[in-house]
Amino acid sequence: MTARVLDGVRIGKEIRAEVAAAVARMAGTGRKPGLAVVIVGDDPASRVYVRSKGRACLEAGMHSETVEYPASVSQDELLAQIDRLNADPMIHGMLVQLPLPKHIDTDAVLRRIDPAKDVDGFHPVNVGKLVIGDPTAFRPATPYGVQQMLIREGIETKGAHAVIVGRSTIVGKPMAGLFLHDAPGGNATVTVCHSRSRDLPGITRTADILVVAIGKPEFVTADMVRPGAVVIDVGINRVSDPSHAKGYRLVGDVAYGPVAEIASAITPVPGGVGPMTIAMLLKNTLQAAEQAGT
Ligand code: NAP
Repeated sequence: MTARVLDGVRIGKEIRAEVAAAVARMAGTGRKPGLAVVIVGDDPASRVYVRSKGRACLEAGMHSETVEYPASVSQDELLAQIDRLNADPMIHGMLVQLPLPKHIDTDAVLRRIDPAKDVDGFHPVNVGKLVIGDPTAFRPATPYGVQQMLIREGIETKGAHAVIVGRSTIVGKPMAGLFLHDAPGGNATVTVCHSRSRDLPGITRTADILVVAIGKPEFVTADMVRPGAVVIDVGINRVSDPSHAKGYRLVGDVAYGPVAEIASAITPVPGGVGPMTIAMLLKNTLQAAEQAGT
């Protein structure tokens, strides 16, 4: 078997076009969704992400603001900026790019964001709403993107055994919540694994849908995958490769070549889950503007 490749670039574009059309309709009523991204320090990967988020916003017809601080910024100054954005009527969604420098309490920063503008979905109010299935929750963009990809590719989650490897608050835990809901892209039987799980390969081999988000290059090998399973690779890892102009290449958490031989469908890295994440962030910003009603 050779797996069908789930093309996140194409599906992401489709979603971005739908968001842009909704933004254009909203413009007819004199409203425009706005997203603010706050970035601290000069981590090159974070800067690339923030630039592409800003560009994607503008392409969708949204208002975009980027607020940059040096790594030395104080927590008080950062919190004051969040307060300003919370009060700004042009801004419907806001996110603080992670990770933050060590002297800043990340939880305190994330909890300062008005839950109604928390388009990353990391505020405890949105985490709770997601767990209970409240449709006004902001769903964290990466697992939301995985779910949309499955829905749009016609991959049935109802009754399937979905195994998630990784239990982060950004990916693994919200993914489990989304798969559990009694809704499209849900109704799965869910198992969540982590670094202390016993017999990980034995568990992953029982998956109909296997979502891997651990941050370990090519960790999941073909012997860990049931033939015919759907494999979603969330990982993005740089591995050094002198044959590439940049000196590195990107790989996922799954050994793509051998796993693609036995899976029924698989996401590539790059070009799989990554582009879905930005598309879903735009969708969340649109949702924030719609819910704000201003
Ligand atoms: P994270 O916060 O570092 O969490 C990693 C999780 O993997 C933890 O729950 C950890 O278990 C588990 N884990 C680590 N080693 C393991 C092992 N040997 N066996 C089983 N579980 C193991 O990572 P994250 O933020 O979720 O990100 C995961 C990956 O996804 C990274 O490569 C990241 O770059 C990528 N990512 C991509 C996107 C995207 O847009 N495509 C978005 C977010 C993240 P413990 O809890 O027991 O330590």
